[in-house]
Amino acid sequence: MSQIAPHRTLDVRQQLSESEQTKLWVLLDELTDPEIPVVTLREMGILRALRRGADGRVEVVITPTYSGCPAMEQIHDDIAAALAREGVAARVVTQLAPAWTTDWMTAEAREKLRAYGIAPPHSAAAAALAAEGQSVVRFASNMRAGRAGGASAGGGFGTEPPVACPQCGSTKTTETSHFGSTACKALYRCLDCMEPFDHFKRI
Ligand SMILES: [Zn+2]
Repeated sequence: MSQIAPHRTLDVRQQLSESEQTKLWVLLDELTDPEIPVVTLREMGILRALRRGADGRVEVVITPTYSGCPAMEQIHDDIAAALAREGVAARVVTQLAPAWTTDWMTAEAREKLRAYGIAPPHSAAAAALAAEGQSVVRFASNMRAGRAGGASAGGGFGTEPPVACPQCGSTKTTETSHFGSTACKALYRCLDCMEPFDHFKRI
């Protein structure tokens, strides 16, 4: 189903000018994820759009990563404060549908996560390959008694590519806890370098 039928698109008067857009994006590009300060909100895919509301005010549209994610309030406040500092009359609009997915994270965000020590979520393409049985290395968690109903449970359900260690790159890794420092991350351990690390789960 298309989200915006052609006759529903905003008319030109209601669009932000290119210079307004540029100025706002530069401003908003300085804002980082409160939980992962190396990644910007835009790179995370949290900042969805800039538009003009019916009353003429600028609207910054954001989509929360997880419902109930404690960082969202902070994100909302950070954006509002940045806009206020620059004297921009704007408001933050939270849009819940379509739901945020880790597929909206940019390639830069994934690379920055890895450099920060967090194994990034798999891309849609990598997950699709794994689902077809084409992942190169098998998930190693079956070396250890995994949790019941985990990714290695039979039936092809939830097949994901192996999680690579962000320190050494080894895919000999095992999930030690499905919930890491935050609900969006799982705790892993590398069986080669033995370092524990967080994996940002794909949703
Ligand atoms: Zn390692």
